[in-house]
Amino acid sequence: MNFWYSIPFHDLDVGVVSINDDVDIELLITCYEGLKEMHIYAERGSDPIEVVSPEGKLLYKRVTGDGILALPYHDAWQAEISSSSTVKGKDDMVKEVIGSGDNNDIPDINNKAKDVCEEKSSQMESNPAVMGPHKEKIHDAGDKSKRKKEQDWNEAVDDDENLFDRGIGPNDESTPVYNYFNADEEFRKEHFELKVGQKFSNFHKFREVLVEWGIREGYEHKYIRNEGSRITAKCAKGCSWRIHASRIQRSKTFMIKTLKGDHHCGRDYSNRHATSTYLSHKFQAKVRDDPGCSIPGMVNETRRLFMLDISQKKAARTKQKALEALRGNDMEQYHRLWDYVATVKNSNPDSHISLQIDKRNIEERATFQRIYYGLGALKNGFLQGCRLIIGLDGCFLKSPFGGQLLTALGRDANENMFPISFAVVEVENYNSWGWFLRELISQIGRGNKGVAYTFISDRQKGLVHAIEELFPESEHRFYLKHMFENFKQRFKDQNLRDLFWEVAAAASMPEHETALSNLERANPQEGDKLTAAGWFKQLPPKLWSRAHFSTACRSDTCINNMSESWNNYILKARGEPIITMLEWIRRRLMQMLVTKREGMLKHGGTLCPNIYEKLEKLKIKARNCVAVYGGNGNLKVDGYGRTNVVNLELKTCTCGHFQLSGIPCVHAVACIQSRKLKFEEYVDACYHREAYLRAYNFTIGPVPSKQFWAPKVGQTASNATSVASAAQKQRRFWYLRSLDPPPKFWEFDNFGFFLEMIADLAPPKLF
Ligand SMILES: [Zn+2]
Ligand SMILES: [Zn+2]
Repeated sequence: MNFWYSIPFHDLDVGVVSINDDVDIELLITCYEGLKEMHIYAERGSDPIEVVSPEGKLLYKRVTGDGILALPYHDAWQAEISSSSTVKGKDDMVKEVIGSGDNNDIPDINNKAKDVCEEKSSQMESNPAVMGPHKEKIHDAGDKSKRKKEQDWNEAVDDDENLFDRGIGPNDESTPVYNYFNADEEFRKEHFELKVGQKFSNFHKFREVLVEWGIREGYEHKYIRNEGSRITAKCAKGCSWRIHASRIQRSKTFMIKTLKGDHHCGRDYSNRHATSTYLSHKFQAKVRDDPGCSIPGMVNETRRLFMLDISQKKAARTKQKALEALRGNDMEQYHRLWDYVATVKNSNPDSHISLQIDKRNIEERATFQRIYYGLGALKNGFLQGCRLIIGLDGCFLKSPFGGQLLTALGRDANENMFPISFAVVEVENYNSWGWFLRELISQIGRGNKGVAYTFISDRQKGLVHAIEELFPESEHRFYLKHMFENFKQRFKDQNLRDLFWEVAAAASMPEHETALSNLERANPQEGDKLTAAGWFKQLPPKLWSRAHFSTACRSDTCINNMSESWNNYILKARGEPIITMLEWIRRRLMQMLVTKREGMLKHGGTLCPNIYEKLEKLKIKARNCVAVYGGNGNLKVDGYGRTNVVNLELKTCTCGHFQLSGIPCVHAVACIQSRKLKFEEYVDACYHREAYLRAYNFTIGPVPSKQFWAPKVGQTASNATSVASAAQKQRRFWYLRSLDPPPKFWEFDNFGFFLEMIADLAPPKLF
């Protein structure tokens, strides 16, 4: 039997070279090292062909129907020798065998596979590894059953185009095993190994893994060859360690072909492959969590995590690059914000979601400024099942663009928070709060059933001002916890601190007066110094004294617990890009409505569980109270050193708590118990199970994934641009420009219309 090879890059008419023995083969290999393709010819009708490695190992044996066969080049042989499994190796080999034959079976499969490839090529472009094996396998047409398997395998890939990215290939004995390097998994380990035969989806992936390995193990390499088709690298310090990888025939897949020698150079705390770009990927999560992280801190962390010493300059560059990458991710989402909003509105009728943008003139690209996010289900639930108290709170976001999240929180019948709406704004101040409240008014009105809302918030100056201006008829309370923090800083005496709570908790005028005079006695006036009582009197009592609160909202609350639970609730989403964050919150709220409704449906009884619990506690306290009938429907209750008068008919008590909260106070509980009445009848309807179910009666609509989002709003709205007169436009721009000093809120009125005209949003300017 005779073999020949054609001279690479030359036509057959130049002639072929015969291959007679191993010497010829070695010569062939030496002459054409690294060559991807070699055409070997065998005489037609020859015997079975064996492929034997230079060491004499049988690599491959097959019967060929056609006279044309090609041999793999020598690197693959070596790979084969080091690999323990001959089955795997065989398939690898076959893949590299290139035939240009005219076997009748081949064209058919060829076309079929080609069709499949083309059909999917658009999806697979990002994953060249998938393309490679397809085409290579086609040439192995000798075995029909194998062809069948090949098609199954195609289907498997159809299911998940990322199959290879995750390194999960079909792992059947008779199907080829594509042992692609699984970076996700391997990088999670402390150490990972490089081995001959390992495959990488492309050139870049291989280099990335090589660099990662070197930095982890503390070795530095230098490239001898660094080309798209092959990479050879050796130890930068001259050890015998050497690696060679090259592209597998007709694919972008890279495979490690040789790996020789060892490093004995020892670890060095510097590695030129640990560039600021490399490190910036490692620091991305940290920078997102803490955009203000210090440069010296990063230098230390690099030393601790990677055993690398870097300069402050390099750390600064690293941080800069990480921030830029994060902003890039985030920026993407601003472009699709309009589409997202339109989609949410579609699936959530009655929702109020509005965007405020910054655009100084016609030419300038619109910049995102604020978004108000009010879902119809929450609005309706709030109006139908919650009390008229609204907690307002702002918290910082951790995205690279900064910003703050403002939230309006209601209270449900079970005394838990009920989110009404939230907004992303640049910073918490008079202007942004004013805008938020204006949006809130347009969504839920100024009050419900003729009663104004009661607001509760911290002492944020801008917010206090904005509430006064927009809700002059509303009551505004301060969170006592926040006030107490301020009080503590000024007054260190523990006795005064105890008296603080006595003053704040007093719910009737006489108690309020008594508590204040106690405070005056404990901290008497000396010169001009501000006394504790004077400190309280600086603020109007209606802001902080329960005795001065209105009873309309059926709540005595002035503790911060609602906004704290909200902050915990959204904690995980705070660092996410804008749409991810909004979606995350929306989904959680969607789940919350369902879970809570189902929970309450299982719960029996007239009142909500927390209210029952509260009553049980009061019943225990009420054992020290004695109720005596006092005429006119009044009951005199003696207990805890005082006498109070309860009127069960009017649901009042002189202590003030009954009428303020709508739940019987300890005195009323004593009366109800002594007269063997039903507690449920004396608890305000706002705490009933029915009220709770009304609040959770609505559902938040699902939002499809982004490929199904509504088309750009701006495209349809662009006609509106020509409708609006130039003068109108000019005026509207002026309002946007004149943010400082803030315009009166009502001047923003027509913005909804204006905003609809701008489709593409840029991310906010950095603050
Ligand atoms: Zn070395
Ligand atoms: Zn009472």
